[in-house]
Amino acid sequence: MTTAALPELSPAELRRYSRHLILPDVAIGGQRRLKAARVLLVGAGGLGSPAALYLAAAGVGTLGLVDFDVVDASNLQRQIMHGTRDIGRSKLASARDRLADINPHVRLESHETRLTAANALEIIAGYDLVVDGTDNFATRYLTNDACVILGKPNVYASIFRFEGQASVFATSDGPCYRCLFREPPPPGLVPSCAEGGVLGVLPGLLGTIQATEAIKVILGAGDALIGRLLLVDALGARFRTVTVRRDPACPACGTGEIRELIDYDQFCGTGVGDTTADLPQITATELAARLRRGDDIDLIDVREAHELDIARLDGARLIPLAQLPTALHTIDSARDVVVFCKSGSRSAAAASHLRSVGYRRVWNLRGGITAWSNEVDPDVATY
Ligand SMILES: [Zn+2]
Repeated sequence: MTTAALPELSPAELRRYSRHLILPDVAIGGQRRLKAARVLLVGAGGLGSPAALYLAAAGVGTLGLVDFDVVDASNLQRQIMHGTRDIGRSKLASARDRLADINPHVRLESHETRLTAANALEIIAGYDLVVDGTDNFATRYLTNDACVILGKPNVYASIFRFEGQASVFATSDGPCYRCLFREPPPPGLVPSCAEGGVLGVLPGLLGTIQATEAIKVILGAGDALIGRLLLVDALGARFRTVTVRRDPACPACGTGEIRELIDYDQFCGTGVGDTTADLPQITATELAARLRRGDDIDLIDVREAHELDIARLDGARLIPLAQLPTALHTIDSARDVVVFCKSGSRSAAAASHLRSVGYRRVWNLRGGITAWSNEVDPDVATY
């Protein structure tokens, strides 16, 4: 966009952005560029919160937000865009209130939906740049491929426990997410933050880096994280970058094999057709009824030992998932075995493993101890 075509700044905006205007690398021209920019945030959660707060404060003219979730008490340890009074509200409604308060000059566009292969191209096409704040592989590959197809820069970050990474993908000359990770990991191998935990500050660090990179890309200032992956180790207090090269064999940005979006749940093994979908499951209500009847059930908790301090089921014994292969001699294949974890995904991996080594009388507790709390005993804490 030529400078003449950029929107003018009002006197109120000149006052608000004065600390930017005196920066030579921003100045009035850069601030008008920010005002003209349209940035889409995929996810209004841990990464999206700081990214949206800073992009709004910085004066990015239009912010689009994609999310379909509702604010839960367990979000507030890191999702700083939302507050205690927002529990139960949609994240987008909460985000709109907070962002409008930070900067009423920003136009907010809500997309209250899950980003899917059916809507991603249409939604992303309306923006200059995407900030990927998703928490799952299917949406991450979807966002990447849509950005490559449309030629929109994708400011990426991901977090787990005490570690995070960030980069800028899908620019005209840089690599994309698939150049770095061609295929998703096998389903269940990498736990989600809900299963594995995350330090609340970490998405704050990484989401703020995403906002920084987005602003640099809009301004054309500095050296963006194009062709570089930033690795953040919060426990070790170490930041380092590694080079990521564009892969000529990348199916997205190299060979151009991916010309349209695919079924990302199937690609990542996370949706229908999931390898765990045909596992025998038992609901918490059914399990409670069987236990009340006095059925002989070996109830195995595959969570970690420290999770017992938060919530436990009477009569269960602990075999953390990683120790299961070496504890098989303690499991009698003639008895009924029910495995459970926090929400059902680690135990699905456990049930799947037991069946693969010959156990036939194995059930996965659907929804884990969380479902037990919701359906059977509210005194068992959820976390
Ligand atoms: Zn690529």
